[in-house]
Amino acid sequence: MAAKILDGTKIAAEIRAEVAADVKALAASGLRPGLAVVLVGHNPASEVYVRGKVKSSGEVGLHSEQHLPAESATTAELLALIESLNRRDEIDGILVQLPLPAHVDSKTVLLAVDPAKDVDGFHPMNVGYLSTQRPGLVPCTPAGVMEILRRSGIPVAGREAVVVGRSDIVGKPVAMLLLNQNATVTVCHSKTHDLPGVCRRADILVAAIGRAGMVTREYVKPGATVIDVGINRVTNRVEFDRLFAGAIAGNARRRETFLAKGSVLVGDVHPEVADVAGAITPVPGGVGPLTIAMLIANTVKAAKLRRSHE
Ligand code: NAP
Repeated sequence: MAAKILDGTKIAAEIRAEVAADVKALAASGLRPGLAVVLVGHNPASEVYVRGKVKSSGEVGLHSEQHLPAESATTAELLALIESLNRRDEIDGILVQLPLPAHVDSKTVLLAVDPAKDVDGFHPMNVGYLSTQRPGLVPCTPAGVMEILRRSGIPVAGREAVVVGRSDIVGKPVAMLLLNQNATVTVCHSKTHDLPGVCRRADILVAAIGRAGMVTREYVKPGATVIDVGINRVTNRVEFDRLFAGAIAGNARRRETFLAKGSVLVGDVHPEVADVAGAITPVPGGVGPLTIAMLIANTVKAAKLRRSHE
């Protein structure tokens, strides 16, 4: 039987509507949460992401502003900008779009963001809060994964969860969130032996690898929930045919897109897994839309947390 599709676009819309209602309620008490996005130089992909973040912030009624230092900006200049944003009370969230230019000391810049305004949840203080289960700001994509599970009624406590990938921005925080919700968690990476065998133990399998369609049907226990965080662009015809050869629903549309544009987006999970899994997130339209939704939710959370500590 084909897997239930976990519709991230719909879940993200629900979250945005809830955040908009929250922002309206805060406005009645005279508070308008604010997000500052820092984009250094001209990276086309980063420009697209930042536009999406600023647009979504405006749609839910947040104050948002962009800071656009030149590509040549120094570490010292960026630290001065971050410090000025840290000091402004009307700014609740600060997001530094990565990657920063190579000459900039990215770690020092990220460390300078006030942890109370760190809406990306990357600051070591927030990483510590997450691992010790204290209130703090949680990275957006991992928080989105948990929202998909929660809002789809998929139980976590007591289940076997396997996370493939151990990056600081996805794999590790997802594993910690699952552990905090009482799953039995295994974290896999490029040195894991018998990866398909370990993955087959999973009731909940999270793929955050960055390799198109790597997770094939032999990685998946029948009926498991599969969360595909990967976003990969396939431009090669042979690779396209490996992924989309069968008569699976949606393949004909993908073929049209591939022929017209020369590329399609695919996750880390092979589309054939939809035949084995009990539930699965699509790519696109799965985890991706949750990332911006959780960013605006985090900005409102930061606004409330900062004031509750004052
Ligand atoms: P990353 O920093 O490159 O980490 C990839 C992880 O996968 C590493 O831990 C690596 O292991 C592991 N890995 C790589 N090849 C492997 C293999 N053959 N077998 C087992 N493990 C392997 O990537 P990331 O930033 O976490 O992102 C992962 C994916 O999620 C990417 O496709 C990215 O585009 C996507 N992503 C999506 C969103 C979203 O909004 N949906 C947000 C962020 C990222 P080692 O540690 O041993 O090297």
